[in-house]
Amino acid sequence: MVRSNRMPQGGTVNDGVTDLSDGKPGVLSTLGHCCAALAATPRRLLRPRRPDEAFLSRVRAAPLPPAKGVVRLTALPQARMSAPTAIVAEGARSLGHLPMAMGAFLIEHAQARFLVDPALCAGVHDRVLPGLPFPVGLLVSPDKPVLGLADALAARDLSGDDIDFTLATHLHWDHVSGLLELPDSVELRVPAIEYEWATSGEIAPYGVVRAPLRGRAIGNLELDGPPVLTFTRSHDLFGDGSVLLVDLPGHTPGSIGVMLAVDDGTRVLLVGDAIWNTLQIKLIREKAPMPGQLFDADRDRAFETIQRLHALPEGIEVIPSHDFDAVLARA
Ligand SMILES: [Zn+2]
Repeated sequence: MVRSNRMPQGGTVNDGVTDLSDGKPGVLSTLGHCCAALAATPRRLLRPRRPDEAFLSRVRAAPLPPAKGVVRLTALPQARMSAPTAIVAEGARSLGHLPMAMGAFLIEHAQARFLVDPALCAGVHDRVLPGLPFPVGLLVSPDKPVLGLADALAARDLSGDDIDFTLATHLHWDHVSGLLELPDSVELRVPAIEYEWATSGEIAPYGVVRAPLRGRAIGNLELDGPPVLTFTRSHDLFGDGSVLLVDLPGHTPGSIGVMLAVDDGTRVLLVGDAIWNTLQIKLIREKAPMPGQLFDADRDRAFETIQRLHALPEGIEVIPSHDFDAVLARA
């Protein structure tokens, strides 16, 4: 592999010494939000939010540029948990549970080896989860044991020194905590709007723990390219169409998807947490209010993004970060 000697994108927006405060919402405020989300949930399980037919009819699919290069894709599952199907895909007619994954994706391109979402560190229950307000940390805690990022890389005969940079689909704790196990020199690339949302102000948004971001050099990803498929903006990371970033706003302000041309001839779209399971695309369902109201920063935009995913043409393998079956198929 040739180590990249250029940044595929942009300048640095952080000098790596920014002091990020550790403020979190108060217990009463958090309990209030949780109670409101809980109270809104039973009605939605019976009558889920309906698709916006007018919006759907306006969504057009722009061309997907042909790829002149390919990447190798390897999922690195690090933890699992489960959640009721009817909560993940609001009102889905099932009393069952869906297995959920947490982890990173290793992407190998001729110019760089990088991670999409440096997800979890070892000991995340003690090192990171206490940074979430009570009782949010309890809601999202994965089953033990958790495989730390360094161990996940070691299982592939790699170390943090072999990673050229990381990208984040968004800055929730379960997508960046593995930074605690990567050398400080490994840059995190993320849209500026996402970084500002996660790090400005005294109190971190729900789902964000700032400690893994502290001291990390940040590169700005600007989605300055044209519409791709049903998404309004894009960025071609290497200029060869093999890694296209697309905008998936709503879950967080700067959530992005990563469209890959994989070396097995498939096209794969990593969608982070825009959805938690591909069932949501099929049924056009948002997450139920509890916990979606806590973790989707803008529910209306998040639902638009789900509808854009529903309107994708056939033949694209969509992998949500927490969709256990979709992730395991690439491990
Ligand atoms: Zn997540």
